[in-house]
Amino acid sequence: MTRPSPTSDELSAPFFEGTANGVLMLQRCRNCAKYAFPVQEICTNCLEGDLEWVESSGEGTLHTFGVMHHLYHPGFARDLPYNVAVVELTEGPRMSARVDAPSDELEVGMELKATFEPAGEVMVPVFQPA
Ligand SMILES: [Zn+2]
Repeated sequence: MTRPSPTSDELSAPFFEGTANGVLMLQRCRNCAKYAFPVQEICTNCLEGDLEWVESSGEGTLHTFGVMHHLYHPGFARDLPYNVAVVELTEGPRMSARVDAPSDELEVGMELKATFEPAGEVMVPVFQPA
């Protein structure tokens, strides 16, 4: 059983083109310079609709995390237990992602770096200790 896969659409295509090339892309508002994630059509800070795609550092810190011990989808059977985290990116937005490290080695505030792994048709970010 394969893992469920996010669906790339017209709005999110630049994000998944980035992950396919090992780059974490983010939207940035041309009006107020705030970074945006998840993908959106207008800036939630200034409400302008002029967002550009830029390459992020792929770096961040562990904001919070949980350890999944229960199998909610058979595609994750080989991963149990696994860490689901909220990563605060250096550019500001917070992103939910798996952190590939033993859960007893995770500490809130630790530095993380994005790597990428396949999830169906697309590549998704998975963070590692920096
Ligand atoms: Zn803005």
